[in-house]
Amino acid sequence: MKNPGFGFFTALFVPRSWNGDTMTIGKSTKLNNVRYDIRGPIADEADRLEREGTHIIRLNTGNPAAFGAKIPLSIIESLSENAKTAAAYSNSKGLYKAREAIAGYYTTRGIADITADDVYTGNGVSELIQLSLMAFLNPGDEVLIPTPDYPLWTAATILSGGKAVHYICDEQANWYPDIADISHKITPRTRAIVLISPNNPTGAVYPRDVVEQIAEIARKHKLVVFSDEVYDRVIIDNLEHVSMAAIAPDLLTLVFNGLSKSHNLCGYRVGWMALCGDKSGASEYISGINLLVSLRLCANVTGQSIICAALDDFKNTQASLKPGGWIYDRRECMYKALTSIPGISAVKPSAALYIFPKIDTAMYNIKDDEQFVLDFLREKHVLLTHGRTYNWKQPDHFRVTYIPTMEELLEVMDRFEDFLKGYRQI
Ligand code: PLP
Repeated sequence: MKNPGFGFFTALFVPRSWNGDTMTIGKSTKLNNVRYDIRGPIADEADRLEREGTHIIRLNTGNPAAFGAKIPLSIIESLSENAKTAAAYSNSKGLYKAREAIAGYYTTRGIADITADDVYTGNGVSELIQLSLMAFLNPGDEVLIPTPDYPLWTAATILSGGKAVHYICDEQANWYPDIADISHKITPRTRAIVLISPNNPTGAVYPRDVVEQIAEIARKHKLVVFSDEVYDRVIIDNLEHVSMAAIAPDLLTLVFNGLSKSHNLCGYRVGWMALCGDKSGASEYISGINLLVSLRLCANVTGQSIICAALDDFKNTQASLKPGGWIYDRRECMYKALTSIPGISAVKPSAALYIFPKIDTAMYNIKDDEQFVLDFLREKHVLLTHGRTYNWKQPDHFRVTYIPTMEELLEVMDRFEDFLKGYRQI
C-alpha cells in the first residue's frame, strides 16, 4: 500500500513508523520482559515440525486429557443437565451455587469464615492470576515469587507494572523455599509473596513448618499472600496439604484453584479465587477486583455449571494417585527411568504432574538449556521445556510431565538416553 499523501493535516496523523510502502506495528512496551516459554519459541518449532508431517510427543504442558485421561461421568451428566441454562451470562463473580460449593470446600479444609461472597470464578486460574495482580500492583511494587516458578506469576507481575523478585527454592532441601533468602529479599517496596504448593515445576508439597515460617514473614512485613493451590488434590504420597489461608487467618490470602488438574479438564477453563482471612483493610483492592471481573462480564458459564458436581466427586483423581493408578505408576516409571541415565538426577516429586531434573552440564557441555531442548526436539521429536522457562537462572534443569501413556513414556526415555549418548554442545 502506498502512502496516499493527503497533505499536511493528514500527515500529522500518519504513524511515525510509516516508512514508504510498509508500516511496522510494534508490540506494546508493557510486554518487554514478559515471557511464557512453555508455549514459546520451542513449542512454535514443534508446531512447524508437525506441519511438515513429523509426529511430536508433547511433554511441555500438564494436559492429562490430551493423553486420554478420563473425565468423571458425573461431569458429563452435569454438563448435559446444565447445557441450556448455561447459555446466559452469569453474575460477574460467578454462579452463586458454584461459589457456595467452593466456599464449602474450603470450610472443610479448615479455612474459617469463608462464604460465597469471597469467591470469584474465572476462565481458568490463569485469568484470575492476571486480574488479581492487575488490580493490586502499582509501578515498581515488588512481589516475591519462587524460582523455579510457574512462569505466569512472573509474567503477570511484570505486565501489571510490578517487579518480580525471585526467592530460591532449595533443591537440596526437597525444593522447599529458602526462608533466609525470602527475608533477605524484602525491601520497603515488597507488597506480596506468591506461594505455589503443591509446586509446579518441582512437585514439592510444603510442610506446615515451612508455611508457618512464611506466614511469620508476611505478618512482620504486612504482605498479601497469593497462594496457588491448583494441585491441592493431586498429591501422591499421602502428604498433608497446608493452605496458608487455614493457618494464618490474620493475613489476607488469595487462594487460587480450579478443575484443570484435579478433574483432567484443562480445556474447560474452570478456575476460582477465594479471598480469605483478614479483609478489613482491603475494601479498595476488592472494589478493584470487582471492577475488573465486571469488565470481562463473567467466566464461561458452561464451565462454572459443573463445579458443584466436580466438588462432589474426587473418586477418579484419588484412584489415580494410589499404587496401580495412572498418575502414581507413571511418576514411578519416569522417575526411575530418568534417574538411571548418567548425569541426570532429580528430587522425586510428591505431587502435581512434573519432574524438574538436574542435568550434569559439565558431562554434556551444556551452556544453553534452551538449545538443549531444541536439539532434543529436532533430533528425537519430543517437546520438553528448559529450566529458564521457570525463571531458573542456571542452564542445568528441564521440566518434563510424566502423564503420557506408559508406552509413550518408555519410548521417550529410550529416545532421551540415546540422544544424550552422543550429545555435547559446541
Ligand atoms: N498455576 C499453576 C501452578 C499451574 O501449573 C497452572 C497450569 O499448569 C495454572 C496455575 C493455570 O491453570 P488453569 O488451567 O486453571 O488456568
